[in-house]
Order: sequence, then structure tokens, then C-alpha cells
Amino acid sequence: MNNSTLVTRPLFPSLDEYTEQLKEIWSSQWLSNNGQKHQQLEVELKEYLDASNISLFNNGTIALLVAIQSLRLQGEVITTPFTFPATTHVLAWNNLTPVFCDIDYERMTIDYKQIEKLITAKTTAILGVHVYGVPCHVEEIQDIADRHGLKVIYDSAHAFSTVVNGRPIAAYGDISMFSFHPTKLFHTGEGGALVFNDIHLKQRIEYLKNFGIKNENEVVLPGINGKMGELQAAMGLKVLPLVKEEQSKRAKLREYYTNKLAEIGGVSIVKLPQGATNSEQYFCIRLKGGDEIRQKIYDALKEHHIFSRKYFYPLISDYPCYANLPSAQHGKLPVAKKVAQEVLCLPFYGDLDFSIVDQIAEIIAKHVA
Ligand SMILES: *Cc1c(COP(=O)(O)O)cnc(C)c1O
Repeated sequence: MNNSTLVTRPLFPSLDEYTEQLKEIWSSQWLSNNGQKHQQLEVELKEYLDASNISLFNNGTIALLVAIQSLRLQGEVITTPFTFPATTHVLAWNNLTPVFCDIDYERMTIDYKQIEKLITAKTTAILGVHVYGVPCHVEEIQDIADRHGLKVIYDSAHAFSTVVNGRPIAAYGDISMFSFHPTKLFHTGEGGALVFNDIHLKQRIEYLKNFGIKNENEVVLPGINGKMGELQAAMGLKVLPLVKEEQSKRAKLREYYTNKLAEIGGVSIVKLPQGATNSEQYFCIRLKGGDEIRQKIYDALKEHHIFSRKYFYPLISDYPCYANLPSAQHGKLPVAKKVAQEVLCLPFYGDLDFSIVDQIAEIIAKHVA
């Protein structure tokens, strides 16, 4: 795979710096359960994300699972079919029924105008995803939630450090989840976090991620093991200082891509709404010609050992485990269906050579013509 170009490449701190961290861990003789590195990373991330409250996890999926448990949700949750499988699976693992809502054609996030008609007596929450770092209509969604007494959870896996209208993305909604998987801009090898506004949630979330253990004599909740260990936290401490430079390299790359692709008809580039900063998590294009052209481009790139990703295709509502749900039935999600045929995420990481972008643009131009 050495000559291959993958869709992303994880940030690696210098091995010497990570080794320094390891030496400290070795002398502490402490590997998990709220160790020194964990405590330090929690402090640094809280500040970095301008978070009111934060809790670290072993991965983003378990974090989201715990977020839902902590809010004691029941019944139905209105969510988007255009996302990574984990978003919806955590609902199933909590015995909740996902109710798929169509998406906004421009933003590709949950279409707030369609949420209200899906609300029933069983609805308890809205679960949105800031897809590719494009923020959901956070104000409008909060307004709906307030009027109907619903909780709001965001899967912010793609929106690390995004700011919307001068506020950090996680200031919106009850709880936001971040993933620190290596494919994400900031990572800890594997890891994740919950950011939330209500301090009262903190204790419950801490119990839930540690088997519900209160003390040596009391277990108060049916918790799970969601703890981040010291090796992961140490990785995070060394990756975090690299994020800003990576973002600015990616911003330049995005500009280069944008210029190269601008003249090609039938190709549009995903843009952020006014007032939102770009996390630079993905570089995604949309192909007006749909799946047929997309597949041709995907295959042609692959022939040149360039690997793009059809994020997010297929739609979650088309997975066999969800396809029988009433909200997944034929014709209910026309915009999501269309968008899922159009999107293609292209290789995007700071060290990507501009000459590869030239090559990608050439291959795309050849196939849409
Ligand atoms: C990566 C990702 C997740 C899962 O996070 P993990 O840390 O890998 O468990 C969830 N949702 C979205 C949208 C993602 O991109």
C-alpha cells in the first residue's frame, strides 16, 4: 500500500515525544482509571473545545451510548439516515426506535423543517450529525426541542473545534459526542469524549462509563467500561498541539482542490454556511450525475491507487436491520437518497502532495465530461 493515496492519514507525534510520555507512564505505574495523562488531557481538551463540561471515553461510539443512557431516553428518537453506522446503532443498543428524518439538500444534515411532523407521544429526543463538519441548523433544532420538551444530542465526530456564530459547536444541544479515532482530525489512537452544558450530568456520566461504581461498596447504575487509558491520553496530549497546523495545511489543500475543480461542470464542493468555521475533517464533492458517474470516478481513482470514500452511502435506512422501520420506507427520504448518490470524499490530509490533487482533478474532469 506504500504507493497508495488513502482518504486520510493520521497525525503522528514525534516518536521521541511519545516515548517521553511512555517513560512518565512507566514510572507512575498507572495505566487506566483516571490517571495523570487522562486528567491532563481532560483539562487541555476542555479548554481547547471551550467546553463547560467534558468526559473522556475509550471511543466515540461508547461515548454516544453513554450520552443516551445519561439522559434516560425512551421510545423514539428523530435522527438522520445520512451518517456513519454508529450514530444509529447506539439507539438500537439503547432499545430506542430510530425515526429517520430527511436531510437538507444543501447542508446534508437533518432537515429541521421536517422534524415536527415526525414527533409523536413517544418522541424523547433529536439526534443530529454535523456531517463533514457542516453544522446542523442548531438554533432551529433547539427551538423545536424546547417547544416539545425534547433532548438534543449531536454526533460531532466531524466537527472538532468548529465554531458557529461565535460559539463552540458543543454549546448547542444537551450533549455532543466527539470521536478521537485515528481517521479523525484530532485523535488518541482510539478514543472519544462527551461535552455537555449541565454540570448535573457529570456524575451520572462518570458512573456510567465506569460500570456504575460509586465506591468500593456501592454500584449504583448498570454502567459499561467507557474509560480512556493512559496510553491513549498520552497520544492525545502530543497530537493536540499538531492540530492547528494540520488544519491550516488542509485549508490550503482545500483551496487548491477548489480551484482545480471549479472549472469542471457537474461537480460542486461542499461549503459551510455563513458563521461556521471549518474543522477541515473531510473534503467532499458532489457529483450531479449521481451514482453512475461517481462509481466511474471511484474506480478510475482506484486504478491509480487513489482511494476515495462514498461517505455516506448506503443510507442507514437501507441497512437490513433498519429497512423495516416505518420511517425507512420507500419514498420517505427522497433528499437523503439523492445526496447519498452524489457524494464522494477525496483524499485530504496535510501532507498530501498537490500533484496528486492535479491527478485527481484530471481523472474527475475526464469522467464527468
Ligand atoms: C467516527 C465516527 C463515529 C464513531 O466514532 P468511534 O470513535 O470510531 O467509535 C461516529 N459517528 C460519526 C459520524 C463518525 O464519523
